[in-house]
Amino acid sequence: MNKKTITDIDVKGKKVLVRVDFNVPLSSKDPNDTIAVTDDTRIRAALPTINYLLENGAALILCSHLGRPSTAADKQYAMDPVAAQLGVLLGKPVQKVDEVVGPSVTAAAAALQPGDVLVLENTRFEPGEKKNDLGLAAELAALADVYVNDAFGSAHRAHSSTEGVARAIHAKGGPAVAGFLMGKELAALGTAVTNPPHPYVAIMGGAKVSDKIKLIENLLKTADKVLIGGGMANTFLKAQGHETGKSLVEAEALPEAKRLLGMAADRLILPVDVVVADAFAADAKGDIVPVYAIAADKMALDIGPATVERFNDELQNAQLVVWNGPMGVFEFENFAEGTNAMAELLAELTELGTQVVIGGGDSAAAVKKAGLTDKMSHVSTGGGASLELLEGKELPGIAALDDK
Ligand code: ADP
Ligand code: MG
Repeated sequence: MNKKTITDIDVKGKKVLVRVDFNVPLSSKDPNDTIAVTDDTRIRAALPTINYLLENGAALILCSHLGRPSTAADKQYAMDPVAAQLGVLLGKPVQKVDEVVGPSVTAAAAALQPGDVLVLENTRFEPGEKKNDLGLAAELAALADVYVNDAFGSAHRAHSSTEGVARAIHAKGGPAVAGFLMGKELAALGTAVTNPPHPYVAIMGGAKVSDKIKLIENLLKTADKVLIGGGMANTFLKAQGHETGKSLVEAEALPEAKRLLGMAADRLILPVDVVVADAFAADAKGDIVPVYAIAADKMALDIGPATVERFNDELQNAQLVVWNGPMGVFEFENFAEGTNAMAELLAELTELGTQVVIGGGDSAAAVKKAGLTDKMSHVSTGGGASLELLEGKELPGIAALDDK
């Protein structure tokens, strides 16, 4: 994944179209309200790329999707509050147009001077965006000399603003490169996929095995050990013949779980104890039991302390750790212990020099909740995109960028 980034090209005096991830939470979904950005983390995350380009003499045209509008009539998803917040963060005026493409956009883009910033309307207001419409891509490319993709979280989708536009810029002889955020994601996750240092230990958890069979299988090709916790561990425990009571078990995934255990029993490490409860509820009381003693009327909602110890042993000499999927129902305080203990362990390992990469939306949320995001080598900003990359898939938005 040796892709060119903005430092590999000349942007002085150029118009640069940057696909950012400004898909931020908003204060209201009612178009009649005054809508504000409630968390500007993603806007701040794009500032290094934006500032670098501005400092190097470019004029910027920024585009992003925001929420899930059905049509351009869903004005509650207009980019105005985002552009306003970007202006606050940059400390300078940011111009916003009410179209994605069209005469008003063409005129505004043509008038841009180095140092200017223009924000386009929500790309999903254009029906062609999600269809990767090449006409839309060409209209976007016509606005600029250079295309920069800094929206890793959308790179697994071939849309006009992520994939088509890169090809359209190439068609007119311009470069299509990665921004700093994208570059960071590729460095961290790309290393894990293409040339991981060993020992390499992967940790898998979360709710559903069926969603992640391909991921586990791919990890087994590159990782030395795969530790399994969370809800998905129950399906593996059941596949081993354990009673799993009322735990979340995917009957239809049992054959796959058995197949993986048959393939790599010594490298798939399962829990030795779990925290069980009567019900899936925040106020349910947890009891620690060995995995061979889960009662028929109980459900396993977290890994137990002996499992954390067992996982800790496996992780001690690791050079690289990739973690996806919470170890338990971390949303409930009573069943967050396993996830928090793993997060703390990984923060300690990061400090000792282990490369720790975390992918997945809920996993990133769990680490954030534990207050440890900054203590990990890398927490991916792209939920689905990070998982697809780890599955070994080629992401269209990345494939379309220039190789080094
Ligand atoms: P990610 O988004 O990081 O890829 P997933 O979406 O696969 O992670 O899984 C996250 C969900 O898994 C969380 O909502 C969590 O409550 C749930 N989960 C974890 N352990 C269990 C369990 N033992 N039983 C039921 N749900 C669980
Ligand atoms: Mg999830």
